[in-house]
Amino acid sequence: MNPYQFCPQCAAPLVERLLEERPRHVCPTPDCGFVHWNNPLPVVAAVVEYEGRILLARNAAWTEPTMFGLITGFLEKDETPEQGVARELHEETALHAESIELLGVYEFIRKNELIIAYHVKASGTLALSPELAEYKLVEPKHLRPWRAGTGLALAEWMRRRNLMVEFAEPGQLRWRASEADTPTPTGT
Ligand SMILES: [Zn+2]
Repeated sequence: MNPYQFCPQCAAPLVERLLEERPRHVCPTPDCGFVHWNNPLPVVAAVVEYEGRILLARNAAWTEPTMFGLITGFLEKDETPEQGVARELHEETALHAESIELLGVYEFIRKNELIIAYHVKASGTLALSPELAEYKLVEPKHLRPWRAGTGLALAEWMRRRNLMVEFAEPGQLRWRASEADTPTPTGT
């Protein structure tokens, strides 16, 4: 889906043209030249290690009650990815990043995003923003990453820790509950 119908520079209706071998939405106004390239947007993601466990959170907008994910967010202008991931961590959980290590860069073609994933060691007192409905602190060996998107970053972190990676199948939980894991509902 193309989010732009009108030129953001001159307000003319955009038209589809073949440009550099792909159909693009371009502005037909002479001298304007706007092209909606629709390039992927970078997203930062954090495998957050907190008190020896990995923090997974459920977005308040997600309707699936068993779906938990990494802390993610978009970069702000004039911010490095490392600054962005530390800021998102603090905004969403009130935790502070003690160390930030790159895990990898992953495609997320379905959403036209590019995931830049970090392992972030965090400290402080956990308090979720209203964006997140609840969180879980999961023992690393119980993690069950998905086979796509941020799941591949989580799997990379597990491999670096010499943990056996067992992927979750679609519809399964991303973690396996155990007495050691804390289900922690927060907020409303
Ligand atoms: Zn235009």
